[in-house]
Amino acid sequence: MVSSASFLASPHQPHQPNELLPRGILFLWGNELNELYELYELYELYQPLFFTQLLHTFQYSRFLELSIVMICGNIAYMKRDLVYDLPKLDLHVHLDGSLRLGTVVELAQDLPDLPNIKETVIPPLRCSLERYLAAFDVTVAVLQTEVSLTRAAYELCEDAAKENVIYMEIRFAPLLHLRKGLTPQQVVEAVLTGMTEAEKDYPIKTNLILCAMKQESPANSEKVARLAIEYLDKGVVAIDLAGPEVNFPPIRHHKAVEIVRAAGLHVTIHAGEGCCANHIKQAIDLGAERIGHGVYLYEDKKTENEVVKKKIPLEICPTSNLQISGIMNSYADHPMKQYLDEGIPITLNTDNRLMSQIDVTHELSAVSEAFCLSWDEIKMILSNSVSAAFAAEDVKDHLREVHYRYFNR
Ligand SMILES: [Zn+2]
Repeated sequence: MVSSASFLASPHQPHQPNELLPRGILFLWGNELNELYELYELYELYQPLFFTQLLHTFQYSRFLELSIVMICGNIAYMKRDLVYDLPKLDLHVHLDGSLRLGTVVELAQDLPDLPNIKETVIPPLRCSLERYLAAFDVTVAVLQTEVSLTRAAYELCEDAAKENVIYMEIRFAPLLHLRKGLTPQQVVEAVLTGMTEAEKDYPIKTNLILCAMKQESPANSEKVARLAIEYLDKGVVAIDLAGPEVNFPPIRHHKAVEIVRAAGLHVTIHAGEGCCANHIKQAIDLGAERIGHGVYLYEDKKTENEVVKKKIPLEICPTSNLQISGIMNSYADHPMKQYLDEGIPITLNTDNRLMSQIDVTHELSAVSEAFCLSWDEIKMILSNSVSAAFAAEDVKDHLREVHYRYFNR
C-alpha cells in the first residue's frame, strides 16, 4: 500500500480540460516497487480530475532519484531508470547495426581508405535510406573474420544484458561475411559462439535469425534457407527477408520461405518499413509469423484488419522508423499506438543500436513518453514479445516466470 500521500488540492475540484496552469501538487512516498505501481495507477485514476503536477519522493528505495513519473501539463511518462529496470526483450536487432562504436574503430584499423568512422556509422536522425545504409558498408567490412564476428555477438549480448534484456533474437545476413574466405558455416558458428559465451556470463537467453537480402537473387535466399536448416535446434530459429523494399517484393523469395517452413523453422519478414504496404500482405501470405516494422500497415485497411484478426505481431523499432520511414517528425507520429489500440500485438525493438544510438530502454522510454503509455500497456508490450518470440516453450516459460516474479514482487 501507499505509505503516505497528501493532497494539496482537492480531488473533487472539477476538471477543466483547457486549464494549463498547475492546479495541484501531490507528494507521494513509497518504499517498494509494488507501491510505485500503485502510485502510478493512483495518478492515472485521478490525473484527469486534478493533477497537473506531481512530485514524489521515494525515501528508502533504490528509486531515490525521480524514477517513475514526471508530470508536465497533463502528460505523464516513465523515467528511464524505471524502464531500465524492467525485464525487456529485443526481437529485432541486426548484428552489423549494433556494434559498439569503439569496437568498429578498433577493427577498422586493419582496413584501408575508410572514411571518418564515427560520421559514417552514426547517420543523422533524419537521413535518406541510402545515407543510412552507407553505415553498413563499414560495419560489414569489419566483420569478415571469426574473431570479429564472435566479439560483435558477445558484446551485443553483453550490452543488452546490462540493460536488463532477458531475451534477444539477433539477426544478420551470413552471405555478406565471406569476403576473406570464411564459409557460411564458419560465419554462423562464429556468431553462435559469441552468443553462447555471453549466455554463460549473463542472465540472457538468445537465438539467431538468418537474413536473406531482398535485392539478391532468389538462389541466394535459398542458400540462406538451407543454411538455416543446418542449424535448426543449434541456435538458429528463423529466416528473415531484409534489405531495400522498392522494386524488391518479398514474393520474389517465396521458395526460400517455403523451404524453411517445411523444415519447421520460423519466418519473419521486413515489410512496410519505408513504403509498400502491399508487401505486408505478401509477407503474411508467404507465411511470415511476424512482420518487421509494418509501419505503413495503415495504408492498407484490408490487410490491417487481417493483422488485427490474426493477431500478427509487429516488430516496431521506433527510432529506426523515425529515421527512415519518411512519415514521422516525432515519436508521437508513429502509428504504433493506433495499432496497439486496435489489439495488434506490438513488440518494441532496437533494429540498429549503433546507427540509432539507442537501446531497448531508450525505445521504451521514448514511446512511453510520447504516448503516455499506462503500466498495463507497458506490461502488454513486454508480454507480447514473450508470446511472439521464436523460442522453445521452456525458454518462454522461463521468460514468463521472470516477468511474473518482477511484476508481483
Ligand atoms: Zn531491421
